[in-house]
Amino acid sequence: MATIIEGKNLAKKIREELKVECDQLKKQGIYPKLAVIMVGDNPASKVYVKNKSKACNQIGITYEEYFLEETITQQKLNDLIERLNHTKEVNGILLQSPLPSHLDINQAFKAISYRKDVDGFTPSSVGKLVMGGDTFISCTPYGVIKMFEEYKIDLTGKNVVIIGRSNIVGKPLAQCCLAKNATVTICHSRTKDLQEHTKRADILIAAIGKANFVTGHMVKEGAVVIDVGINRSQEGKIVGDVDFESVEKIASYITPVPGGVGPMTIAMLMNNVIKAAKEQNNKNSTF
Ligand code: NAP
Repeated sequence: MATIIEGKNLAKKIREELKVECDQLKKQGIYPKLAVIMVGDNPASKVYVKNKSKACNQIGITYEEYFLEETITQQKLNDLIERLNHTKEVNGILLQSPLPSHLDINQAFKAISYRKDVDGFTPSSVGKLVMGGDTFISCTPYGVIKMFEEYKIDLTGKNVVIIGRSNIVGKPLAQCCLAKNATVTICHSRTKDLQEHTKRADILIAAIGKANFVTGHMVKEGAVVIDVGINRSQEGKIVGDVDFESVEKIASYITPVPGGVGPMTIAMLMNNVIKAAKEQNNKNSTF
């Protein structure tokens, strides 16, 4: 039976440490602040935004929401971002995705100052990640790396196979694993013979968005399995991309859904807001 990687507990520990750090910053007159922009009325986004606001409240980060109409123009959205870029009190800017289809999300991300890019999605942050510079690492990949560190899972020389090549999970996660000296394979919907790749994985990471997609017969005995997916089952339950029941019997470590990667993502967002506040108030920062 696999060891369960308790993301929820680790996230709680990280949030507690961040609260201490946040209190210390306040004593120095620094009040970390996150601005969240949401366009339209996407119900899933509303839940994510609510969870982020709750985490900010727990830590003592000031949280500000900007709800924009579904029909807003790109220009108006970019204008708001530009205004927040220049608002000294705002340390982090988060643009909640998805955006309505008439808006270009890459253009909007490009407008966010890399110094306030707590999601790590701007071209500058991504470029720095690839080149190994100090930057904001996007929150889900960062959370996964923290879990490896906490459970002393060494990636050096390991075959890491990631299913999913999105800009927010698969690609940055591949860079993070590469930086930890893993040999990385990224698979996607056009990959031929997926199972041939997954069966070779010492560490298998699923970021697909398909309920229970990875089953036991796709996993190597003793592999570490990380489930990034968040899906609703036909019964309305939250489930991952990994069929927990069959994979748990084969893997050495496994993350549950819920209670695995999800809470870590929010904890790392909070970490990035505190980092932003510190960097923006440090005269010697080279960030
Ligand atoms: P996405 O942008 O939809 O990307 C999904 C990826 O899976 C794509 O690269 C796609 O390939 C690949 N894929 C789809 N079907 C496949 C198949 N049959 N075989 C192999 N690859 C396949 O999704 P995302 O934003 O990365 O999110 C992935 C999942 O993680 C979702 O369930 C999302 O809700 C969840 N998520 C969780 C967190 C968290 O905090 N836990 C954070 C972000 C996302 P193509 O590129 O070829 O289309």
